[in-house]
Amino acid sequence: MGEISCDRERRHLADVLFTRTALPVSLGELSGRAVVASWRTLLLTVEVGPSRVERRLAAGGIRCPTCGGALSPWGWARSRMLRGFVVAVLRVRPRRAVCRHCQVTHVLLPVTALSRRADLAEVIGAALAAKAIGGGLRAIAAGLGRHADTVRGWLRRFTAHADRVRVLFTVLLVDTGPDPQVPAESGSLFADAVAAVLGCREAMASRWPGLGMVPPWQIASAITGGRLLAPAVTW
Ligand SMILES: [Zn+2]
Repeated sequence: MGEISCDRERRHLADVLFTRTALPVSLGELSGRAVVASWRTLLLTVEVGPSRVERRLAAGGIRCPTCGGALSPWGWARSRMLRGFVVAVLRVRPRRAVCRHCQVTHVLLPVTALSRRADLAEVIGAALAAKAIGGGLRAIAAGLGRHADTVRGWLRRFTAHADRVRVLFTVLLVDTGPDPQVPAESGSLFADAVAAVLGCREAMASRWPGLGMVPPWQIASAITGGRLLAPAVTW
C-alpha cells in the first residue's frame, strides 16, 4: 500500500479510526458510519436486532455521528422487502431517530441491508465473491435466482468502487489484525477488492472473536454506512 498522503486519504484514515473504535465492542453495539442520504437526514448503520436498537435508543446509547449528541426515536422509515437466501423475503422497517442536540434526523439501517438495494447484503456479497473467482454473470444470476440485469448492476457498481474498497478494507485489515496478512494482488482489481473485504473480516474476527459469526458483507455494510454500492463514494 502506498503512503497515505493526500487530504482525502487523511480524512479517510480518520473515518477508519472512527470505525475501529466502534467495532470492538461487538457488532451488537455498532453504530456504523453515517452518510448523507438527503437534506438533514443521515443514514446510519446499526445492528440487526430491533429490540436492541430500541433499548439503546431509549437509553441514549446511539450517538449522532454529526455532533455526538444522543439520538431519540422519531418514527419509522418506509418499510421495505429484502430478498435473502434462507428467508425468501424479509420485511424491514428501519427506525428513524432525531438528535436531541442538533435536531438532524437519521435513518437507522440494519447492517443486513445495503442502501437502495432490494437484496440482503449477504446475497449481493455472494455474487461479488463468485465474480471474484471467475464466475460468469448469467451463472451467478442463475445460481442466486436473480435477474441478470440485477446482478449486472451490483457488479458494475462494485467495479466502479473497487479501488476505493480495496484501499479502505486493506487499511482496516492492517490496522486491526493482530497478525495482518494482506492478500496478494491477483491482477484483477475487482478480485483484490473482494479479497480485502474478506481479509478485513478475518482480521477483525481474529482481534475481536465476538465478530466471528458476523458475515463479511454485514461488516462491509457497517463500515460503508450501508453505501457499498451507492452511486457516489462517501466513505
Ligand atoms: Zn447531532
